[in-house]
Amino acid sequence: MAEPHVVIVGGGFGGLYAARALAGRSVRVTLLDRRNHHLFQPLLYQVATAALNASDIAAPLRSVLRRARNVTVLLAEVQAVDLAARRLTLDRGEMGYDALILAAGAGHSYFGHDDWEAFAPSLKTLEDALEIRRRVLLAYEYAEREGDGAEQRALLTFVVVGGGPTGVELAGALGEISRQTIARDFRVIDPTKARIVLVESGARILSTFPESLSLRARQALERIGVEVVTGKAVTKVTADAVWLGADQIRTRTVLWAAGVAGSPLARSLGLPLDRAGRVVVDADLSIPAHPEVFVVGDMSLSRDPAGAPHPGLAPVAMQQGQRAAANVLRRLQGEPTRPFRYRDRGTIATIGRAKAVALVGGVKLSGLIAWLTWVFVHIVYLIGFRSRVLVLFEWAWAYVTWQRGARLITRPWRGRD
Ligand SMILES: Cc1cc2nc3c(=O)[nH]c(=O)nc-3n(C[C@H](O)[C@H](O)[C@H](O)COP(=O)(O)OP(=O)(O)OC[C@H]3O[C@@H](n4cnc5c(N)ncnc54)[C@H](O)[C@@H]3O)c2cc1C
Repeated sequence: MAEPHVVIVGGGFGGLYAARALAGRSVRVTLLDRRNHHLFQPLLYQVATAALNASDIAAPLRSVLRRARNVTVLLAEVQAVDLAARRLTLDRGEMGYDALILAAGAGHSYFGHDDWEAFAPSLKTLEDALEIRRRVLLAYEYAEREGDGAEQRALLTFVVVGGGPTGVELAGALGEISRQTIARDFRVIDPTKARIVLVESGARILSTFPESLSLRARQALERIGVEVVTGKAVTKVTADAVWLGADQIRTRTVLWAAGVAGSPLARSLGLPLDRAGRVVVDADLSIPAHPEVFVVGDMSLSRDPAGAPHPGLAPVAMQQGQRAAANVLRRLQGEPTRPFRYRDRGTIATIGRAKAVALVGGVKLSGLIAWLTWVFVHIVYLIGFRSRVLVLFEWAWAYVTWQRGARLITRPWRGRD
């Protein structure tokens, strides 16, 4: 009898960990992704701010899964899922499955203003990171040549929308680029006078962290010259300005780090979605009436036993991928599936060079110790990438000693990427 065919959609954290958990088992696995690489998203902002190169944080899915002989990797975009027929519509052709694990991730939501995206790119893919890097570096270059004072100030104003970990990391990195990395590289402009504004509509930044850590993060950002605006929502974005109600900030560079929107693929399932467009899954990560279909990672909404939603973090997606794979195997063996239980090992947000805030096992950390914890955690996660560990060590060392950023910031001009 032919082995059951398990299809995994998405080779991000959820899909990759599901594929690894199914490697060597008595199933035929197909991993579909519209890109041929696994992307280590937590280090994307280092690419956006020129501290790392694109290839440092992406690994070809084929080579990551080379030894998993029962896993086939295919470059394909999945456009729709027909749950009744157990078939997927691909960009070219169709594919059937016996069990399905959906791990297509999420994008950013512009809260119904999709036209803002052209002026305010978000950070999700390598292309996004390189586009953000290009815009930031060009803003300084254009400012150096600009004769009009108002336009020069707009070029030297950077607005980051969204005070979650990504926004905080981006704003912190922009602050340090202007205050340190390129501080003495220009003749006309003074990069240290660049205005970096972080806008958060909620009452505080890093709202998922304890209040004391939010405050520390805010103080750390302000020390490196970032203006933190809380309690004000962005009401309009154009090519040369951001509006916070009646207040206008003239700027040429807006970066979007707010709002989550589940993968559009979720809509094709015809199931109830939450407000962010994520699939609401059962305790074992399957979907109602289809025990053969599991949805994991950022594309799904699952809750802990107390009813709190699991956060959109890499460890959640990894552990869910493993749980979904185990449940696929249990079903095939006629055993009952098990509920997902998240093992929370902590959350960390970095703030520029050698500073971070962290909540690890209920213990609050901040400053250098939190940042070292962050480096350690990333090394552990990156282990599957092998040579990437060296990249991280090299980068972390340079980060502390201030060498690499100054060197790398010029690379885009030499066509490295
Ligand atoms: C800038 C940034 C920084 C972050 N920092 C951290 C951090 O420090 N710590 C942390 O824990 N988490 C962090 N996260 C969140 C973390 O990266 C996500 O929670 C995690 O990637 C979710 O994994 P996933 O497998 O659900 O989705 P993803 O990792 O996004 O993977 C989805 C995959 O599906 C593929 N795909 C999508 N649609 C289709 C389709 N229709 N057909 C085929 N393939 C498709 C994509 O190409 C992608 O490979 C960060 C996220 C971002 C964007």
